[in-house]
Amino acid sequence: MKDPKKQYASLLLKWNQKSNKRIMPWKGEKDPYLIWLSEIILQQTRVEQGMPYFLNFKKNYPTVAKLALAKEDEVMKLWQGLGYYSRARNLHETAKNIQANYKGRFPETFIELKKLKGVGDYTASAIASFAFGEKKAVVDGNVIRVLARVFGIETAFDTTTGKKQFATLAEELIDEKEPGNYNQAIMDFGATVCTPKNPDCNNCPFNSFCIGFTKNRIDELPVRGKKIEIKERYFNYLVIKSSSQILIQKRTASDIWKNLYQLPVLETSKPLTKNFHADIAAFLGNKQFVITSYSKATVQMLTHRKIHFRFIDIEMKDFKKFSFKGTQKIKISDLNKFAFPKTIHLYLNEKFLF
Ligand code: SF4
Repeated sequence: MKDPKKQYASLLLKWNQKSNKRIMPWKGEKDPYLIWLSEIILQQTRVEQGMPYFLNFKKNYPTVAKLALAKEDEVMKLWQGLGYYSRARNLHETAKNIQANYKGRFPETFIELKKLKGVGDYTASAIASFAFGEKKAVVDGNVIRVLARVFGIETAFDTTTGKKQFATLAEELIDEKEPGNYNQAIMDFGATVCTPKNPDCNNCPFNSFCIGFTKNRIDELPVRGKKIEIKERYFNYLVIKSSSQILIQKRTASDIWKNLYQLPVLETSKPLTKNFHADIAAFLGNKQFVITSYSKATVQMLTHRKIHFRFIDIEMKDFKKFSFKGTQKIKISDLNKFAFPKTIHLYLNEKFLF
C-alpha cells in the first residue's frame, strides 16, 4: 500500500472539494482582520454559538481601525455571553496595537503575527495560511483527533512531547500549494466527519488505512495525559437596591470575568451555612440590613471551574447613605448598558425584565 502520509493531503483536498458542505460566513475570507476575529471568537466555542457574535462584531467594527476606536465597555457588552472574556480584552488591545504600531495593517507572517497579544500558534497559522498563503499548519482539538486516529498516535496530546509530535506531523502533512485550503479542510473534516463520538467512518476517505478504524481503536484515540482538575468556587451575590437604583461593581482583579460587571459578591470556599446573615454582616461592615429572600444555588461549569451562584436580596436600612468599596449605584433601568457574566445577566434580566 502507498505510504498513508503521502496520500493524506490529496485525499483531504479531494474530500474538501467534493463533499465538504460546511458553510460559514468567514470561509474563504482573505481579510486578516476578519479571519483573526472569527478565530478568536471560535476558540473554545461552538460554531453555532460563535456565528451571531462574529456577524455582530463585523457589523459594529468592520475594520480593525473601528475596533481600535471602540470603548472597552462596548466591546465587553458585545462579547457578553460568549465566555472566556480575556479573548475580548486581548482582541481590543491588539486592535489598538495594530492601529498604533503597525499603521493599521496586520503583520503578514506567522512569526510576526505571533507577537500580537492573544495570538497563539493556532490563530497565527490560520491567519498566515488563509490570508497570506504561508505554509503553516493549524493544530487544534479537531486536527489532533484526526491525526491521532488516522496515524495511530498514542502519545498524550497534552504533554510537551505530544504537542511537539502533533505539530511536527501536521507540518509534514500540510499541502505545499494550498496551505489555506488544507487547513480549512482538516478543521471542517474534524468537525463534521471525524467527530469525537460516532465518526462517519463509512464515508471517510482515509478508512482503508486509518488505524483508529481498521484496528477498532477509535474510542481510545486521541490519548489525554493530564486529568483536568476542577476547582469549586461559591459566589454569593448581594442584590442591594432601592426601588430605582442598584449596586454593581466592575471586576478588576486578574481573575475570571475581568472587566465585566457584577453585583457585590461574597465569595466563600464552601456553601453558606444557615447562619449566613452573620457572614454578610461582617462582609458589609455590620451595616443594618435585612435579608428579604435568596435564590436556590445554581451551577455554571467552566473549563477548570465549577461556579456555584446564589443571589441574596438585601434591604439596607438606609440605602441612600449606604456605600460599599468598589461599587457604584446605577439606575435599574440602565442595567442593560453593562456587560455581566451570563448567569448574572440571566438573573437580572428575569428579575428586572430589561
Ligand atoms: S476512518 Fe473514522 S476514525 Fe478514521 S479518520 Fe475517518 S472518520 Fe476518523
